[in-house]
Amino acid sequence: MPRPISARIDTGAIRDNLAVARRHAPDSRLMVAAKADAYGHGLRAAFPGLMAADGIAVLDLHEAQTLRDLDWRGPILLIEGTFEPRDYEICSRLHLWPVIHCTEQIDALAAHKAREGLRVFLKMNSGMNRLGFAPQALGSAWARLDALTQVDEISLMTHLACADAAGGLAQGVGSALTLFESFTAHLPGERTVANSAATLRADAAASGGVGAAVQADWMRAGVLAYGASPSHPHETATGWGLRPAMTLFSQIIAVQDVAPGGRVGYGGTFEHSGSGPLRVGIVACGYADGYPRHAPTGTPVLVDGVRTRTLGRVSMDMLAVDLTPAPQAGYGSRVTLWGVDGAQVLSIDDVAASAGTIGYELMCALAPRVPRTVV
Ligand SMILES: *Cc1c(COP(=O)(O)O)cnc(C)c1O
Repeated sequence: MPRPISARIDTGAIRDNLAVARRHAPDSRLMVAAKADAYGHGLRAAFPGLMAADGIAVLDLHEAQTLRDLDWRGPILLIEGTFEPRDYEICSRLHLWPVIHCTEQIDALAAHKAREGLRVFLKMNSGMNRLGFAPQALGSAWARLDALTQVDEISLMTHLACADAAGGLAQGVGSALTLFESFTAHLPGERTVANSAATLRADAAASGGVGAAVQADWMRAGVLAYGASPSHPHETATGWGLRPAMTLFSQIIAVQDVAPGGRVGYGGTFEHSGSGPLRVGIVACGYADGYPRHAPTGTPVLVDGVRTRTLGRVSMDMLAVDLTPAPQAGYGSRVTLWGVDGAQVLSIDDVAASAGTIGYELMCALAPRVPRTVV
């Protein structure tokens, strides 16, 4: 028998979540970010849901190849562009849209022997200082690209550092947007600005007037498609109307009755201070499955659909849960680490917050040893 742990990937949830994004920005086209193996869901597993978008954004050429193998004929954005000159051959062959974020990429493109021109996305650095041309350098980069026979169409792009800011969208992205708009005003071409947080927060009423500029021609939505909130804890996934696309579930493989003063797990960091015995369930899930080792005692978990808490340190292959709220639970009981159990939803964002991280990291970190089933 395999270990009872498994991840259920709900492609219907991905479709529904993409529909939520479209309702927020009905006039924009929707690019879904599927890098990092579709945020840990598995690109092939998630594909039936991702197909509901107008385009798919990936990082690695092999991810683009997988999409073409799956017969995806729509747009594929290569989010960081090429890493070496010969990557452009694959861009041409697979009809990819590479991002151009630095002069080295333009040099390589100029040397590329293209049969037909590529559509490229010229990226401006609007203050994140990660990738992209400085605003003052954007015009000359655009002119260089425009002169190349290897280039068929130039679109314009920037990435927002603070779209999830506590103070709201306008406060987080106002200055970045002003830069992008002023340094691209004289340039033709389609534009893409929004990530998930900007997409969801860009509704006119709430966005302080920046909505239309943020939504632009293409939204680039990642985490929302998978049902986590891009702006947790300011807004929750349920509040946005999103459903988890990933449910990580397992079973209780042992039960311990811990006497008062007894301790649980490595280092004995949890001590049972109550008077009667404490029923503790041992779950087949540990950090080698991608569950965060930093999740402390008290991290939420569902046992037979009842919300309870973890106890003590997470080990490599196991963790412990408090069975007090679920007295009928025992050996073989269902445990949901995050996702959906019947009518109950345990948001990956809540588990992540308890462990001091974000839902993005947990979904991306799901270990290859966890089998995925697709529904
Ligand atoms: C990953 C990524 C996105 C999507 O970000 P989310 O916060 O997951 O929506 C958008 N744009 C770029 C450039 C990205 O790398």
